[in-house]
Amino acid sequence: MDKKTEEEIIFAARAKSVDSPVDPVRLKAEDRFCFSCHGGVSCWNKCCHGTDVVLTPMDILVLSRHLGLRPQEFLLEHAITANWEKADLPVAKLKMTGVDGQGACPFVTDAGCSVYEDRPATCRYYPLGLATVKMKGAKDKEDFHFLVKESHCKGHEEDKQLSVKEFRAEQEVDYFDRVNRGWMDVLMKMASWKTLGGPFGKDMTPQTKFMFLMVSTDVDALRRFVLDTKFLEIYEVDPETIEVIKTDDEALLQVGFEWFKNVTFNESTIKMKEKVLQKAIAKAREDIGAA
Ligand code: SF4
Ligand code: SF4
Repeated sequence: MDKKTEEEIIFAARAKSVDSPVDPVRLKAEDRFCFSCHGGVSCWNKCCHGTDVVLTPMDILVLSRHLGLRPQEFLLEHAITANWEKADLPVAKLKMTGVDGQGACPFVTDAGCSVYEDRPATCRYYPLGLATVKMKGAKDKEDFHFLVKESHCKGHEEDKQLSVKEFRAEQEVDYFDRVNRGWMDVLMKMASWKTLGGPFGKDMTPQTKFMFLMVSTDVDALRRFVLDTKFLEIYEVDPETIEVIKTDDEALLQVGFEWFKNVTFNESTIKMKEKVLQKAIAKAREDIGAA
């Protein structure tokens, strides 16, 4: 890792092989590369076998809708839970068939991907990877891309040339990125804090990891958590947002990640109601014997 780098996360680099196929050159939006994937390539569908596809929150929503399943049903049938080691946090991954997940993706057919219009972000990005980096002292994070060049992928030998920006537009990844941003922020922060032993020097508890998995994978459980518990008595959520999140899953995810960032990293992404805050302060003062 670059010495000047404070936080870095590499995401959406689907790769079959463990030998690093990542081309270390950082690509900007206007940078161009040769690539084309179509039914005529000799490697057709090779990348859809034994591959590692982390499911983002948005992937779970769109694939569940595509299959007419609730997210929990979709996850039970098509996903496994794995530890994303960089951040030591649980994520859902697409369940490949075969021994040790080395078989075909459940959605691949001879004609290609049967869920193509709703395929996961990782599949859209391939052969690009997305990295987010925050330089020491910088206020904001910066995204950049890189190429994943695997020897079996003949798409790199095609003549079609396009820029990163054009490829992103073709693959329609912008909306996925917007919805997934809060989730990526948490993964990135934990990846950078892992070396320190988690938030405030402590390891993240199993309960906190469980809540992260719930927020990022199960909007039905998240909706019950926000609307049917004391959540709205504790946190300031404006009435308009409350109405929207009753039916809008993407908006609900944003509230979920704002809450998670607040309780885990103490970020001011969501506010406690004043009377709850005052009560907590009075209790803390009482506990330490202050007047
Ligand atoms: S979801 Fe579609 S593109 Fe992605 S691995 Fe499965 S078949 Fe391939
Ligand atoms: S060209 Fe690459 S992305 Fe397309 S089918 Fe072949 S291995 Fe998969």
